[in-house]
Amino acid sequence: MLTAKLEKHLREQLEQERRRLLEELGHDPAIFADERPGYSNHMADDASEVYEQARDLALRQHAERQLEMVEHALEKLARGTFGICEQCGQPIDPARLRGLPQAMYCLPCQKRREE
Ligand SMILES: [Zn+2]
Repeated sequence: MLTAKLEKHLREQLEQERRRLLEELGHDPAIFADERPGYSNHMADDASEVYEQARDLALRQHAERQLEMVEHALEKLARGTFGICEQCGQPIDPARLRGLPQAMYCLPCQKRREE
């Protein structure tokens, strides 16, 4: 089980990560907005623009997924189910949670999911 001290530490880590991600996502629309004021929905003009738009989108989607995981973990903290693997119901190794507080699965289950 998690000690109260570790749980508090992880909660702080998650809240900090949440703020960082919200900030990152909040800044993002500027990337699209500042260059072309009249931009509507016409196709990008050249390959590098297509590439940049795809990259920005990928970064944004990545941040959104991270944010979802962090918020999910904070919800679990509030419900008292934090640190429990969502696959097998066993406690997740605290060492794993230290490195990845938003982990949803224990290491063996995570490995099985990635196979
Ligand atoms: Zn598991």
